[in-house]
Amino acid sequence: MFWLKTRIVEGRNALENLKKEAKNHERVLILASNSMKKHGFLSKAEDYVREAGAEVFSITGLPAEPSVEVIEEFLPKVREFEPDLLVALGGGSVIDTTKALKVFYDAPGLDFEEIAFMDRFSRPKPVPKLKTKLIAIPSTSGAGSEVSAASVLKKGGIKYNIVTPEIAPEVAILDPRLPMTMPREVARNSGLDVLVHGIEAYTTRVANDFSDAMAIKAIKTVFAFIERSLEGDEKAREKMHYASTMAGIAFLNARLGLCHAMSHKAAWIGPHGLLNAIFLPYVIEFNAERSEYARKRYDEIARELNLKDWRELLQAIKELNERTGVPKLGELVDERTFMEKLEEMAEKAYHDGLIAFNPVEPTVEEIEKLYLEAYKGE
Ligand code: NAP
Ligand code: FE
Repeated sequence: MFWLKTRIVEGRNALENLKKEAKNHERVLILASNSMKKHGFLSKAEDYVREAGAEVFSITGLPAEPSVEVIEEFLPKVREFEPDLLVALGGGSVIDTTKALKVFYDAPGLDFEEIAFMDRFSRPKPVPKLKTKLIAIPSTSGAGSEVSAASVLKKGGIKYNIVTPEIAPEVAILDPRLPMTMPREVARNSGLDVLVHGIEAYTTRVANDFSDAMAIKAIKTVFAFIERSLEGDEKAREKMHYASTMAGIAFLNARLGLCHAMSHKAAWIGPHGLLNAIFLPYVIEFNAERSEYARKRYDEIARELNLKDWRELLQAIKELNERTGVPKLGELVDERTFMEKLEEMAEKAYHDGLIAFNPVEPTVEEIEKLYLEAYKGE
C-alpha cells in the first residue's frame, strides 16, 4: 500500500492559500515558533485568516524538540480558544507539537503513555477519530512532519512517537520563502535529516516502488543541493524544501530504522537532524555488513548517485558530514555523562518501534557498541 492523506500546495507565495483554506472556519488557531513572528510570516498568516472572515488567535514561542510538558503547558490555551482549524507554522518541532495538541484537544482524557509507542512489544491504545482540521506550514526543510502520521515528543530526555493517520495534516503549504530565513545550522541539521529519511526509508523491510521513488528523489536532491542551500542559494533552498516533504512521504509509507531509533533515545544530547547525521554512517556499515538485502539496497542508492557501491556511498556520506561541519558526538556531550546513559539508551533504542523495520534486528549489545563507536568517532 502507498498512501498520502495530505493535500500539498507548493510554490512561492503559497502561504497566501491560507485565505482559501480558512474559509468556512470560524476560529483559527495559529501555533508558531518565534522566528516566524520575527520574520513577519506570522502576521502575514494572521492577515490571510482574517481576510477569510475567521477569527484568529496565535500562540508563539513554541520550543524546539518538544516534550510532553510542552503539551501540558499549551493545551489549556487551545481549549480556551476552541479553534475549528489548527495551523502549525514552524519547523518539525512546531508541527509535532500541534499534532499532539490536536490529539488531546479533540480527544480529552487520553494519556500520552497509553497512546504513544513507548515500547515496540506493547500495543498502544488506538487514537479515536479526531475532528479538527490541521494545516502544516513548514519553515524548515527536514522533518517531513507536514505529511507524516507521527508526532515525536520527549519524555525524560528520550523521544517517543504517537503514530496515527488521524494526525497527518489535511493540508501542507510549502512556501520556499519560509526556509530562506533558516540560519545555516538549522538548514544543515534539518537538511541532513532529509538524507537520513531517504536512506532509511529506502532500506526498510516495508519499502515499495512508490516509496522508493520519493526516497531516491529526496536523496539525490540533498546531495545535489544541500551545500548551495547552506550558502543561502534560493533555488537550492527551494529544492531542499520540496525534497524534505518527498522524504516525508517516503517514510510515511516505508517507515524508518535503527538510525532514528538511536537518535530518539539520545535526544537529550542535541538536535534531531544532527544526531541522525552523526549516527547514519555507523548504522549503514552495521546493516550492510550483516544483511545482503541492505547491501543491495545501499548499492542501488549508490548507483543512483553515480557511485560504485555501498562503501562509496558510506564514504560520500562521511565526507558530506565533514564538509557541512557536523561535529563529533564527543563535542556535544562529555564522556562521563554519555557513559552513564549508554546502557539505558541502548536498551530503550532496542525497544523503539522502528527497530522492526530496520533490515537487521540488532541486539541491545550491538546498539550499545554502535553508540560507543559513534562517541569515539571510530
Ligand atoms: P525545529 O526543531 O523545528 O527548528 C529548530 C530551530 O530552528 C527552531 O528553534 C527555530 O527557532 C528555528 N527555525 C525554524 N525555522 C526557521 C526559519 N525559517 N527561520 C529562522 N529560524 C527558524 O527543526 P526541525 O529539524 O524541522 O524539527 C526537528 C523536530 O522534528 C525534532 O523534534 C524531531 O524529533 C522532529 N521530527 C519529527 C518527524 C515526524 O514525522 N513527526 C520526523 C523527523 C523529525 P525559533 O524557536 O527561534 O523559531
Ligand atoms: Fe527525522
